[in-house]
Amino acid sequence: MIPNAKPTASHFINGAYVEDKTGAPIDVIYAATGELVAQVHEATEALVDSALDAATAAQKIWAAMTGTERGRILRRAADIMRERNRDLSVLETIDTGKPLQETLVADATSGADALEYFGGLAASLTGEHIDLGGDFVYTRREPLGVVVGIGAWNYPTQICCWKAAPALACGNAIVFKPSEETPLCALQVAEILTEAGAPAGLINIVQGRGAVGAKLVTDARVAKVSLTGSVPTGRKVAAAAAEGLKHVTMELGGKSPLVIFDDADLDDAVSGAINGNFYSSGQVCSNGTRVFVQKGIKEAFLTRLADRLKGAVIGDPLDENVNFGPMVSARQLDIVKTYIAKGQAEGARLVAGGNCPDGAGNFIEPTVFADVSDDMTIAREEIFGPVMAVLDFDTEAEALARANDTEFGLAAGVFTRDIHRAHRMVAGFEAGTCYINSYNDAPVEAPFGGSKLSGIGRENSKAAINHYSELKTVYVGMGKVEAAF
Ligand code: NAD
Repeated sequence: MIPNAKPTASHFINGAYVEDKTGAPIDVIYAATGELVAQVHEATEALVDSALDAATAAQKIWAAMTGTERGRILRRAADIMRERNRDLSVLETIDTGKPLQETLVADATSGADALEYFGGLAASLTGEHIDLGGDFVYTRREPLGVVVGIGAWNYPTQICCWKAAPALACGNAIVFKPSEETPLCALQVAEILTEAGAPAGLINIVQGRGAVGAKLVTDARVAKVSLTGSVPTGRKVAAAAAEGLKHVTMELGGKSPLVIFDDADLDDAVSGAINGNFYSSGQVCSNGTRVFVQKGIKEAFLTRLADRLKGAVIGDPLDENVNFGPMVSARQLDIVKTYIAKGQAEGARLVAGGNCPDGAGNFIEPTVFADVSDDMTIAREEIFGPVMAVLDFDTEAEALARANDTEFGLAAGVFTRDIHRAHRMVAGFEAGTCYINSYNDAPVEAPFGGSKLSGIGRENSKAAINHYSELKTVYVGMGKVEAAF
């Protein structure tokens, strides 16, 4: 029995739920069974307009408050999220199909961390004083105005909070459009922030597919766009935002390398590869899907990995014993199956998984290919599913060159006991987020984001403040004003 996941209404605008069924329907399907669990409707132009109007008005009220007051509301929202963690986690599982075992510790909790962290920073955001020996300059750190957030479907609560928390801490208002695959969770974030004291209109959620996102991006009232999505969408959104010279943050796709040297702790390296390929059924942007294993330990690595894969419990993600859920959608399952077929056709050796268990739902087993070469499709393109490509290498220089031979640059990892080599490798990686003897951790205290085609800007940490605010320079003359004539 799936718990009721029907939202109060499709949208959250100006502090309240809003329904308007004239927009095209968006079905919410439970990925484990194919059942329809809820339906929302795309926002009409009038609704998008009202959300942007509400945000514009609320931003002025919000920016006039002190940082301490703003921070208090964000931290209160964090507390409410934590109190409701179980209900929010169940909703996240229904929205995405990710195991409840995961969502209980990774989604609302991570969203709450962001609200707490940026709530804590809000009161200490300042400009600076620059002495010029008489005259002086001071800078004011000011909000950008109305921010548009557009989300992917893999972490609907976290993505909404990772954008809203720094945006609001800096004094902006936000209009967020969730992915059409997972429209439910962001509504809860808006409801909670409003309950915590955010003025009506400060956070607005509008549903829709790409066209609704495109409408938001080009609106003249919008100062900044933050997208989490694929590279093709990122190109379109960045180009549209550039037309209005809007600020952008782009959190896009990846095909990240994970390099395992023969001196690594093998169990840790296998754990890193599992975390970096099979968490959230592989639907994680920073996944280390190209696993380079030094030749001397290749067979030992594959044997240990095969052994550990027996621990995967595939099934209904609402069952807390399950640790491996379905793909978010039938469409995503088809994409993954196509890549697995390509891997086989191009000569990679399938060493684990590859099959869809019998029964309903978008399930596919955790899949491992060995003997993968750099030019194979499964080693070049982002699959966004549980497909690990294992490649082997001889030398450090070779591993680094091959790791960087990609247009993406989101993340990279290295497992080795040699600390000099570890630091040499991360210095050489062309990636925004690197790991040594770990993989895929994303604490709010640390910057997160990509290089090359994987993105622009950084989320989380103090670095995010620069992407959600700007400095105004004020020159103060203290003497007589000289002029040429
Ligand atoms: P997607 O690019 O298909 O969609 C992302 C969002 O953009 C959706 O909300 C969609 O409706 C919207 N959109 C589509 N076209 C648009 C347009 N023209 N204008 C404005 N908005 C538009 O991505 P997805 O399939 O939802 O998510 C998977 C992708 O997201 C993967 O590539 C993954 O790597 C990436 N991702 C990146 C990060 C990160 O932090 N770097 C995190 C999660 C996911």
